[in-house]
Amino acid sequence: MFCKKCGAEIEDEGSVCNKCGFDNANHLPPKNQGNINGQFVPQNYTSSFDTLVKIAFCIAAIAIVIMCFSAADDVAIAASNMKSLKSVSGGTVNEYYYNYYGRFISGIAGFIRAMGVAFGGIFVYLARKF
Ligand SMILES: [Zn+2]
Repeated sequence: MFCKKCGAEIEDEGSVCNKCGFDNANHLPPKNQGNINGQFVPQNYTSSFDTLVKIAFCIAAIAIVIMCFSAADDVAIAASNMKSLKSVSGGTVNEYYYNYYGRFISGIAGFIRAMGVAFGGIFVYLARKF
């Protein structure tokens, strides 16, 4: 092996360099590695902050899906009311207009649900990536 400090060759039995005196056995372990029983063991170290961010992203994902579906339900009810709207005289242009507009709004309700699922998916993706 070679000295990690000066690069001089060291006999395999010894760890202390004859040239510069550096103890190659007791140098500081590289980052993200633990020294257990004299062996370097890599640790799958996850900080509690990373875990908190993951949980926050998951909560945000669930919240945005619930919010979008709740909003979509309100829109869908309004759309349903508009579609079933009947004028007293019957068959007027206004009636046709509101029924038509109700179908358009129920389309928007579906779009809001799709957006909720899409945003939820993005948050779950971010949580996994973090
Ligand atoms: Zn050395």
